[in-house]
Amino acid sequence: MARSTLLMRQRTTLWICMGNNEMRNHLMISESDGALYDTRGDNWSATPLRANYSRHHREINSVADMKATLRAGSYTFPGGYELFFITSDGAALCFDCARENFAMIADSIRNDICDGWKVIACDVEEYHDEWPLYCDHCSRQIND
Ligand SMILES: [Zn+2]
Repeated sequence: MARSTLLMRQRTTLWICMGNNEMRNHLMISESDGALYDTRGDNWSATPLRANYSRHHREINSVADMKATLRAGSYTFPGGYELFFITSDGAALCFDCARENFAMIADSIRNDICDGWKVIACDVEEYHDEWPLYCDHCSRQIND
């Protein structure tokens, strides 16, 4: 599947998650600060509806950082490289596995439990023949 198709799918998923069409028309995610804005008011840009809504965090220090990074999608822009998460025990985790196991990840971050699900960072690994990077949960190659 082409990267552009993947990006389009992620954006579509984002809109679906945000709710019905009425919401989509007045909500905006800023490309510069990653905040969610409600554009219906006169001075809507002064205060975001939700700060830290959709942006990639290199360091994951809270559940909010984890949610924002997941919402921002699994690919870099520009570049189209696939991102992955790093847990406190050094494991790599793809975005799909992170979404599927979000409840455990959130619990481990929130309660500072180093049980293999505590995500501490998000990074990118460019493709390299000699150093393939695999998700430690599903074994899929991340940097192919
Ligand atoms: Zn995985």
